[in-house]
Amino acid sequence: MQYLEPLNAKEAVGKVAELFVDTFGAAPKGVWSAPGRVNLIGEHTDYNAGLCLPIALPHRTFIAVAPRESGVARVVSSFGDRKPVTVDLDGLKVRGVDGWAAYPIGVAWALRQAGFETVKGFDAAFVSCVPVGGGLSSSAAMTCSTALALDDIYGLGFGGSDEGRVKLIEAAMKAENDMAGASTGGLDQNASMRCTPNHALLLDCRPELDALHSVSQQPFDLDSLGLELLVVDTQASHQLNDGQYEARRSMCEDAAKTLGVENLRVVADRISQSAGDDADAAQASLSDVLDKLPDETMKKRVRHVVTEIWRVPQFVHAFAAGDVKEAGRLFNASHDSLAHDYEVTVPELDVAVDVARHHGAYGARMTGGGFGGSIIALVDKGKGRPVAQAIADEFAHRGFHAPRALAAVASDSARREA
Ligand code: ADP
Ligand code: MG
Repeated sequence: MQYLEPLNAKEAVGKVAELFVDTFGAAPKGVWSAPGRVNLIGEHTDYNAGLCLPIALPHRTFIAVAPRESGVARVVSSFGDRKPVTVDLDGLKVRGVDGWAAYPIGVAWALRQAGFETVKGFDAAFVSCVPVGGGLSSSAAMTCSTALALDDIYGLGFGGSDEGRVKLIEAAMKAENDMAGASTGGLDQNASMRCTPNHALLLDCRPELDALHSVSQQPFDLDSLGLELLVVDTQASHQLNDGQYEARRSMCEDAAKTLGVENLRVVADRISQSAGDDADAAQASLSDVLDKLPDETMKKRVRHVVTEIWRVPQFVHAFAAGDVKEAGRLFNASHDSLAHDYEVTVPELDVAVDVARHHGAYGARMTGGGFGGSIIALVDKGKGRPVAQAIADEFAHRGFHAPRALAAVASDSARREA
């Protein structure tokens, strides 16, 4: 069973500086880093103006950077073939870079597109311990570490404040959406740029909110409750590029149109405001809304989004009250809704969740977009490794790829390391 320990920051700084020197033959100007993330609850809610609740992982991507005089950018990563990629930022167009280099180079391109013309070319080397393609947002760890590094070396001055970081988040999102061609709703980049240690980031995605009012820090101290948050990357193929994500997203938009509302958040809020704490009344009102929709699939999608938005504040309250059982129940309800109503799980995710539940987890759920990726399980301290092993054994038995695991604690956002 592969258990991924986070890289020690000092060691990582040494490694990434070494890769930089070996590749480019000079010393970098500095080293920055940004974390991967795991979303505790609130899945497929971001593009519905809903709520989500990520934490930053202790696992981070480190970038060593130096500026260049021209518009040429050169990037290298310890992941893969270690071949540097060179791209000229001048004249670069949407989707103009192929492969992984689209992520970091897309950030520089997006900053220039946003009018920050002082941003020029750069050399960058990457070393990461965030599992790549595991639904833990190695992509945002890469774009956000790049954005913070470019902000610093080109003196944009955004990295030092929450308000400024919102500008960097926009560039990181644009890099993923428009250069890498991977649809993203902003959850990952907000988590990587705005999370704080021992807190989860309650992110409210209503477009009318200004960025400063869109987040709040919610205490998430696992240790004080004697808990561990186990993350298992199932290593099942994680593919959001094959149209499934867009199909979910556009069906939600169609449903909102049919219901005559701006987005599905409006539906969730109207019902919870009128039903208050009466769960039965809320369910009855939701049924009335679903009756107005033309087809069964659409009803299921809307039911997931609305109930998932409700579960986010419920989870925050349960955790704050130390009600671990209720927090676990909400994890389970979220997974079951994603499996049956939103239909974004795969057998690996369902099996991993099942095994975790059978081995004493308070609750377990898939996290991230689905169609592969990772699960999380809330377990007693010391239980993470045995539960992960049980999942690995069951995977071997079923002929699935070997999974890999890590322990998540709520960690720090993007920062300068050296
Ligand atoms: P996730 O963000 O869940 O890990 P994505 O598919 O969104 O999965 O992003 C993974 C992609 O990001 C990789 O295929 C690669 O192109 C790029 N990437 C992320 N981290 C690295 C890294 N350390 N080195 C090179 N490319 C990376
Ligand atoms: Mg990603």
